[in-house]
Parts: sequence; structure tokens; C-alpha cells
Amino acid sequence: MARAKLKYRLPLGKKVISAWGKGGREHPAHTGLLKHSLDFACAVGSRIYAAQGSTVVWIKRDSRIGGPSKKFWLNGNRIVIAHRDGEYSAYEHLRYRGVVVRLGQRVRKGQLIGYSGNTGYSTGPHLHFEVFTKPSPDQSEGTTLQVTFPELKR
Ligand SMILES: [Zn+2]
Repeated sequence: MARAKLKYRLPLGKKVISAWGKGGREHPAHTGLLKHSLDFACAVGSRIYAAQGSTVVWIKRDSRIGGPSKKFWLNGNRIVIAHRDGEYSAYEHLRYRGVVVRLGQRVRKGQLIGYSGNTGYSTGPHLHFEVFTKPSPDQSEGTTLQVTFPELKR
């Protein structure tokens, strides 16, 4: 089981996470390379923060549609940030135009980067979060790594 080397903060405020989203509810899409993805239930419009710092390498912000079907797979608004040590973080299902950073922008850990939504292959408003390595050529996805958040330890 591959774990992330870097330390990540929660990508959203702890108070906005609904009960089922703590630590990752299983979505049918969380298999194969995506198996360490985490879903956090939160109302549409919740503030999303960079879980680690560095450079925004991938953005989609123009989708208005989503639903519980694979036909929406490519319709999720998404941000990907490249960090040190070959690690990346991704934030998905953001609301229409819910991205407040630009491609190539440098961001710090904890900086506001966007707003949650329900676009793409999604069964309800939530944030899909993943840390990955071995990026695809366009850096939009890769092999997910296991990550834990000190904020969620009991
Ligand atoms: Zn997910």
C-alpha cells in the first residue's frame, strides 16, 4: 500500500464535512488507480483549500452538469496541483466556475482555490479528493496514494 510522503491538510473546513464523508465514503468509482480517493460530503459552495502548496497544473471549470452515471465521468470540474517529491493533489466535482486559481499559478498550503459542487460522475454534493503520483502526460490523474489527516484523528 503506497502512502503519501508529504503532509497534507484537510482540503476543506472540518465543520462543513457531513458525517458520511469523514475519512472517505466508498464511491463505486474508487477502484483500481483511484482506490485511495476520499469523498467528503459538503454543501455546494463550500470553500476548498490547497491541501499542500505549489503549482496548479490542470483545471476544468466550465461544466454545469453531473449525476449518478458514468456518462458524466468527464464533466467534473477539477483542479490538480503539483507538489514536491512527485506528488499531486486533485479536487473534483467543483461547481460551475468554482475555480479561483489559474493554470500555472503558485499556491500555498491552505489557500482558497475553489468551491465545491456536484458536477461530473457524482451521487450528491461532495468533494472528491485524491493525492496521486505517476501522473498521466497531461498531469490530470495518476496512481492514488494513501493519505491521513491529523484534523480527523479522534
Ligand atoms: Zn470520489
